[in-house]
Amino acid sequence: MTEPRGDALWRPYTQMKTAQPPLEAVRTHGSRIVLADGRELIDGIASWWTAAHGYNHPHIRQAVAAQLEAMPHVMFGGLTHAPAENLAARLAALLPGDLDHVFFTDSGSVAVEVALKMAAQVWLNRGVAGRTRFLAFRGGYHGDTMGAMSVCDPEEGMHRRFGAYLPSQIFCDLPVDADGTAVLDRTLAEHRESLAAVIVEPLVQGAGGMRMHAPDVLATVARLAERHGLPLIADEIFTGFGRTGTLFACEQAGIVPDILCLSKALTGGTMALAATVARRGIFNAFLSDDPAAALMHGPTFMANPLACAAALASLDLFAAEPRLDQARAIGARLAEGLEPLRSLPGIADVRVLGAIGVVQFAAPPDLAELKRRFVARGVWVRPFGDIVYLTPALTIGPADLDRLIAALTETLRAVAAS
Ligand SMILES: *Cc1c(COP(=O)(O)O)cnc(C)c1O
Repeated sequence: MTEPRGDALWRPYTQMKTAQPPLEAVRTHGSRIVLADGRELIDGIASWWTAAHGYNHPHIRQAVAAQLEAMPHVMFGGLTHAPAENLAARLAALLPGDLDHVFFTDSGSVAVEVALKMAAQVWLNRGVAGRTRFLAFRGGYHGDTMGAMSVCDPEEGMHRRFGAYLPSQIFCDLPVDADGTAVLDRTLAEHRESLAAVIVEPLVQGAGGMRMHAPDVLATVARLAERHGLPLIADEIFTGFGRTGTLFACEQAGIVPDILCLSKALTGGTMALAATVARRGIFNAFLSDDPAAALMHGPTFMANPLACAAALASLDLFAAEPRLDQARAIGARLAEGLEPLRSLPGIADVRVLGAIGVVQFAAPPDLAELKRRFVARGVWVRPFGDIVYLTPALTIGPADLDRLIAALTETLRAVAAS
């Protein structure tokens, strides 16, 4: 690395005045991150849940290398290419029901923006005015761009801060019981004429705090959205590709959302890519002799061939290797290994779903201190808010997984005793 200037780089979610300098990563392999000083960390969170097959998987690397030789990028307006065509067809085949129409973008937030825009434009194309708002759930997270931020949890810091800039949406609690179901039903009835769609993270609200709900809660959301004639947007950016134990979380509730968002593990953590996938009915609402009825979106790097090649290779691996079994085995080990923490003072909850293990504190811990202790124990774990969680690569070996669990357990015990 050349001599750091210190302030040339503006870092994510970081107070640049007070932040500790970040660790420098120079190499990755499997579930390991190698630092510039030679230390090697076991990655407990798979680089923000992207690296489903671990880092540097040879099959993905070969696919990207071959695509790099042929055509790293070409614009997508007026042109098409096999990586995008094949990836769209394969995603359509894997996704439930008639989720058959795939629109590629380059990040999760933009995939959500496109989903919101799609839902809004469906109403415009049908000649229905005033359907300008969205119903979203408290505790949710859908991204950092303005539209996506507007459907994130309304009490969460970032959202509150930007309140004046954001379109105002309707919020509800997830319908976890009969009362909640009645409230959601009433809220949808009351606001139906102004709503364009309902948006939900299926089974796990990820960045909002790793809060999990049962499949029947998701089924209730889908049923009520349908009862009130509203499209349902499922944001599977975190949950997609095996993280919850099924390829897509929606499968566990037996629902087919009208629009579904994917990103994070779509390329196995190799390249930036996202997809907004629509059911036939949504897609058909854009078919018209009027050019203005077309979906008005088109990112410069749409369907980047390198990213599509990486995603195709990642899907090969999901087909050829037992990723879902691996996810469930990780879940079983996480449940067994983390459960004893429940009785520790200061721990409010321990929960596991698929390959997601969460320990929740009774009060927000000293995050910087926790992060420092984890690195000292040779693991890369990023607690936030009042939780610490493990979402390792689905390919992580049992020894590394046990080391992650031990590092977490020992750190929390040490903190509880101090
Ligand atoms: C990460 C995430 C996003 C945003 O994706 P980016 O690629 O960071 O823009 C949106 N929704 C969910 C559920 C996510 O986990």
